[in-house]
Amino acid sequence: AKKAVLGPLVGAVDQGTSSTRFLVFNSKTAELLSHHQVEIKQEFPREGWVEQDPKEILQSVYECIEKTCEKLGQLNIDISNIKAIGVSNQRETTVVWDKLTGEPLYNAVVWLDLRTQSTVEKLSKRIPGNNNFVKSKTGLPLSTYFSAVKLRWLLDNVKKVQEAVEENRALFGTIDSWLIWSLTGGINGGVHCTDVTNASRTMLFNIHSLEWDKELCEFFGIPMEILPNVRSSSEIYGLMCLGDQSAALVGQMCFQDGQAKNTYGTGCFLLCNTGHKCVFSEHGLLTTVAYKLGRDKPVYYALEGSVAIAGAVIRWLRDNLGIIKSSEEIEKLAKEVGTSYGCYFVPAFSGLYAPYWEPSARGIICGLTQFTNKCHIAFAALEAVCFQTREILDAMNRDCGIPLSHLQVDGGMTSNKILMQLQADILYIPVVKPSMPETTALGAAMAAGAAEGVGVWSLEPEDLSAVTMERFEPQINAEESEIRYSTWKKAVMKSIGWVT
Ligand code: ADP
Repeated sequence: AKKAVLGPLVGAVDQGTSSTRFLVFNSKTAELLSHHQVEIKQEFPREGWVEQDPKEILQSVYECIEKTCEKLGQLNIDISNIKAIGVSNQRETTVVWDKLTGEPLYNAVVWLDLRTQSTVEKLSKRIPGNNNFVKSKTGLPLSTYFSAVKLRWLLDNVKKVQEAVEENRALFGTIDSWLIWSLTGGINGGVHCTDVTNASRTMLFNIHSLEWDKELCEFFGIPMEILPNVRSSSEIYGLMCLGDQSAALVGQMCFQDGQAKNTYGTGCFLLCNTGHKCVFSEHGLLTTVAYKLGRDKPVYYALEGSVAIAGAVIRWLRDNLGIIKSSEEIEKLAKEVGTSYGCYFVPAFSGLYAPYWEPSARGIICGLTQFTNKCHIAFAALEAVCFQTREILDAMNRDCGIPLSHLQVDGGMTSNKILMQLQADILYIPVVKPSMPETTALGAAMAAGAAEGVGVWSLEPEDLSAVTMERFEPQINAEESEIRYSTWKKAVMKSIGWVT
């Protein structure tokens, strides 16, 4: 068997919307030594509702850890070399559980879920003071996307949740909190905590003071006792954690003001580090906590452009239309035609997030002719992901004033070469992708390995020597790129206002 010479190892749980993974990295080179992945079920009990089973999510984490450790054993690597485990997770998704039984009191309400549209409408009518009340404290627009409204819905509609709150048995958390509480002992003294990045997506957290905000909790009617303790993103709490998009920012080493990355998973999230400054967007972007890598370390903020549906449109083509059997097959279909032939696909399944924030939008496929076939639709779906990114990049460039010279990318979809080339063509700047696509997990591992008391990862570029970069240069001319982009915008306008 292979005799591996290794530095200390760091593990990462990456709990995404589509799947859970556990990965183990060598902290000296960032080499990925072993990993395991399990797909997560999504339930759609009603139109617009998206739920997941918190117990299944927890089980998937155990399974991934077990299988990864078995694989390490087969490589003759001693798992006692794992010095810390980081957690990165899908953000905003809301869980309420019973601290006495350890049982979730309802399914997890997933970030994409739209059931809170009327809750949002009601709340928006009674925003105190000026309309900026929520945004100035949280950096976020009032939307179905964030946890506070999902939690409000659970309190209003689920008897078990109401009873548990009254009897002081309820705990609220995003997926990180649920996992960490369970993994650190659950009913036998589990740690109920979250980190600043996840907290900053609940809409209850003041991103200036870095504390739960009493006025926001009052506004949303959330009892503060059920909220987790907020910690930095890199300290020992049992484990360490970061919201997935922040973890990707760390994994891409975007530690400087003006550095940005775009992650293509279920949704698509472009984050630009704005340093210690909280920059508020004039163009539909969110202001969010990027990371705080240690209790006594300063906080970094980011501007974020969030796209709800990216990889999810590929999963939809697989599960709802059945035109592909696996996500990878989309590349073959798209390659067959190499153009959408004038077909545009706006996958506004959950309304449109940045930069529009239009809950009234719904998906459309337009520009169809007798000639259009499934390959063109596949191509249009990939192009949609690229156009949505372009809209965000434009907003980001306007807010920051200095256009990005290239785009660093990662996430499950980036293994698709056609998508990467299309992205370079549509942005008209180079797209740069690390050879090791698991950047989110890497970032969580780095935050864990760098924590005080662990100290096996220095966060210097030489500690990423195993990661090489692949570059995609724009190949079409700028004029063609602009024409396609402006037609896309026409399609977007048709998708807006579909529901009232
Ligand atoms: P998440 O972190 O949100 O769980 P991942 O980063 O794991 O997401 O990416 C999974 C998403 O990427 C799925 O929605 C899947 O449909 C899509 N995807 C995976 N492989 C490909 C591919 N080769 N081409 C296009 N999309 C893909």
